[in-house]
Amino acid sequence: MKEIYKGKAKTVYEDGNEVVIEFRDDITAFDAVKHNQIKGKGFYNAQTSAKLFELLEKNNIKTHYIGMDDDIRMRAKHVEIVPLEVIVRNIAAGSITKSYPIKEGKEFEKPVILFDLKNDAYHDPLLNEDVAEALGVSNREEMNDIRNIALRVNEVLKSFFAEHKIKVVDFKLEFGRYKNELLVADEISCDTCRFWNEKNESLDKDLYRFDKGDVLAGYKRIYDIVTSSIGTQS
Ligand code: UDP
Repeated sequence: MKEIYKGKAKTVYEDGNEVVIEFRDDITAFDAVKHNQIKGKGFYNAQTSAKLFELLEKNNIKTHYIGMDDDIRMRAKHVEIVPLEVIVRNIAAGSITKSYPIKEGKEFEKPVILFDLKNDAYHDPLLNEDVAEALGVSNREEMNDIRNIALRVNEVLKSFFAEHKIKVVDFKLEFGRYKNELLVADEISCDTCRFWNEKNESLDKDLYRFDKGDVLAGYKRIYDIVTSSIGTQS
């Protein structure tokens, strides 16, 4: 298989008209200034992502997910990635508490959706529909469709995790264009979501970002929940 992309934590291979996404043990934060390897992290992210994509599909949300080739390799449809990071926030945490006058832990009355341009060199700047259109990366209609899907994803994730007493604080989605459709793509894992337990302790990458505790234990907690509660695809 031909390698077509190597990111900070995943490597993507092309296999005919599909791709195989390998989840590596690399973990990075702060524009990859901080980077390490945590043995087993790739496994937990691959498995968590697979189960969450299955959960979305069960709820009639279309994703790029096809299945797992092995423990750390996901087979997916070869989409054209929309170069936007779609951030959904239920509770204020992370960058929004730095950019705007809002305190960490504040619950939003309704979900807040933000679009960042996927561009490391420019540090993923926030953009609106006009900028996206001017840059030629998307347009108002597509961003409105993305927004509606992101809100549905949020409802599914929030209600699933609420049953397990986990708060979905925020998360990042990426979308792919595929045969005139938008599919949820990339990954949904502890690298791309903030999850808090009942004591508002992090079970996600903030453990790594801020040296808050055992990173793998947090990732495993989420993995245990999703793998024991979301059935295997029939
Ligand atoms: N996020 C991500 N990739 C990015 C930026 C953000 O997966 O390049 C996720 C992040 O893990 C969090 C949410 O999106 O769950 C919101 O991130 P935020 O904008 O607060 O940035 P951060 O504080 O993570 O730098």
